[in-house]
Amino acid sequence: MTLAPRKLFVTTALPYANGAFHIGHIMEYIQADVWVRFQRMRGHKVHFVCADDAHGAPIMIAADKAGKTPQEFVAEIAAGRRAYLDGFAIAFDHWHSTDSPENVELSQSIYRALRAAGLIDVREIEQFYDPVKGMFLPDRYIKGECPVCAAKDQYGDSCEACGAVYSATELRNPFSALSGATPELRRSEHYFFRLSDPRCAAYLQDWTRQNDRRGEARLQPEVLAKAQEWLGGPDGSKLADWDISRDAPYFGIEIPDAPGKYFYVWLDAPIGYLAALKAYCNKAGLDFDTLITDPELEQFHFIGKDIIYFHVLFWPAMLHFAGRKTPERVNVHGFINVSGEKMSKSRGTGISPLRYLELGLDPDWLRYYLAAKLNSKVEDVDFNPEDFIARINSDLVGKLVNIASRCSNFLTRRFDGKLCTPDAAALASFAGSWSGADALAELYERRDTGKVVREVMQYADAVNQYVDARKPWEIAKDPSREAELQMVCSTALTAFRDLALLLAPIIPALAERALAQFGAAERAWEAIGTSLPVGHQVAPYQHLTTRVEGKIIDALFEAPAGAKESPSSPKKPAAAAAEAAVKATISIDDFAALDLRVALVSSAEAVAESRKLIRLTLDVGALGARTVFSGIRSAYEPEQLVGRHVILVANLAPRTMKFGVSEGMVLSAGSDDPAQGNGIFLLEPAPGAKPGMKVS
Ligand SMILES: [Zn+2]
Repeated sequence: MTLAPRKLFVTTALPYANGAFHIGHIMEYIQADVWVRFQRMRGHKVHFVCADDAHGAPIMIAADKAGKTPQEFVAEIAAGRRAYLDGFAIAFDHWHSTDSPENVELSQSIYRALRAAGLIDVREIEQFYDPVKGMFLPDRYIKGECPVCAAKDQYGDSCEACGAVYSATELRNPFSALSGATPELRRSEHYFFRLSDPRCAAYLQDWTRQNDRRGEARLQPEVLAKAQEWLGGPDGSKLADWDISRDAPYFGIEIPDAPGKYFYVWLDAPIGYLAALKAYCNKAGLDFDTLITDPELEQFHFIGKDIIYFHVLFWPAMLHFAGRKTPERVNVHGFINVSGEKMSKSRGTGISPLRYLELGLDPDWLRYYLAAKLNSKVEDVDFNPEDFIARINSDLVGKLVNIASRCSNFLTRRFDGKLCTPDAAALASFAGSWSGADALAELYERRDTGKVVREVMQYADAVNQYVDARKPWEIAKDPSREAELQMVCSTALTAFRDLALLLAPIIPALAERALAQFGAAERAWEAIGTSLPVGHQVAPYQHLTTRVEGKIIDALFEAPAGAKESPSSPKKPAAAAAEAAVKATISIDDFAALDLRVALVSSAEAVAESRKLIRLTLDVGALGARTVFSGIRSAYEPEQLVGRHVILVANLAPRTMKFGVSEGMVLSAGSDDPAQGNGIFLLEPAPGAKPGMKVS
């Protein structure tokens, strides 16, 4: 089926530029990236952009504390983004910043249009001012005693002791969290977006209930219910005006014709979507104004459930009354939990995406796992380590990879890799095991990737049952059954190619390795369900992915941070203290006395009489071969070690053991603290290091 190509403008929520990405960001990027890759596979044109949300008081204050300008602070955060995005294969066309000329121009122009529409008000308000810092204080930087229960040290918006919600001016004995000074109440003119205007209410009542151009509800039912709650009755009387200005000093965009006033960060943040698209257009030689005003362009935002208010009320109203295109859909997802609980650094249940990559875990595993868990609802997703291991090992390795690994080699070794006519009856029975490419396309379109994965695995089950029943390894023993062998393998591989195509948006790298076997054959969605021509040559089977080991997943969980700050931490105090203590200082000469070398493990064998030791034969370049007994048996199998580079202490006095002489020591990381697990992690130089090289 040929489709009229769609034009899509897709964004993920802009991350606040005061810290590294956490797993929640990565989940959202994966969800959006899967959707974008699917659309591209269908031949649609997608512009997929995002940007750092760079403005606001928290960044200004954090930069000040770090002794940097806000621009420097944000630039450092931005520089770290690439490793995550490349690592998890997130195919953004462009990554931008809200602190950019495009955003200044767009924010000011949208503001001017809203003012011309009579939707901007100026009112005087009373606010706390820090006389030492010389700035108005956001509520979260004011502390004091709760006006209800008198609990000390409470924030300016709500009490953690009794749960009361109040305004900062109601706090007793308020003080500035920045300087400790007693804040003064001062009057200041603020600018408001008149969301209470009947025009806004009427427009939003309509917009939130509309269908998109495909005939589906623009908002998920849960999101629409929330929006209705905020909008109130048909008169929209519940909407309050929105304070969109902040006083200098503020890291943000100046409000036109209002000296010393800046846009509140939440005004210019979503406009950053447009700024990122504009910057991308400039880079790609496209005309932004033509693109954004094209009635065929569909605008999609992927966001988390915590920022619905901004995206389904403020944002469409701002755009509409500024005469601009409004979003086609806002796709909302839930949060990610670990084993049913909120992720917590202090309990050591946080998953760091960077650590995941550093440990060498396959990014496609996480993409697959999260896609299998995600759907079109606003539900939280649970990361469960056992479930993760089981899914990867049973689905990707046991079902998908298993087909190619059992059939490819017969074809390449016996038939020059050439496919013959597949078994039509078998292909028909596979087709009956799942709903077909059009139905799966609809599931992808609705972000029901959990169902996509289930369907694809049903298809894989059917193919594996066929291979199990036909037993190509048995047929291969009988020279009179050559034609049958070629047909069984051709049939299984025809289906395998389908499976790789179906999962390509979810596991792009793994799918590409699988499809590379079929050479330059078509990778578009339409290729699903087609057979390659008879005689098409298949390349030899390449390694696709491995099983996940439980040990490496244990290592994924961050060590509990700051045991002192978290009384609930399971960390044992003595071990934690030992972990935190640093040994006595040594001089550079003491360190220089160590002769550390890169060594290559040329052979490794378990020591029969010991449960702990592995006998390593090391190639140390110019230093020749060394034998080292290493107590790493609990963490490594000998065969995993051969061919690996390690770091050797080359000038350690030889030690005579029961089993022989150990000529040095290989370095590994580990912890005495049971809360961190009892893992042993061999040190390994970065690729390129050669045996014998000095380590300093
Ligand atoms: Zn209280």
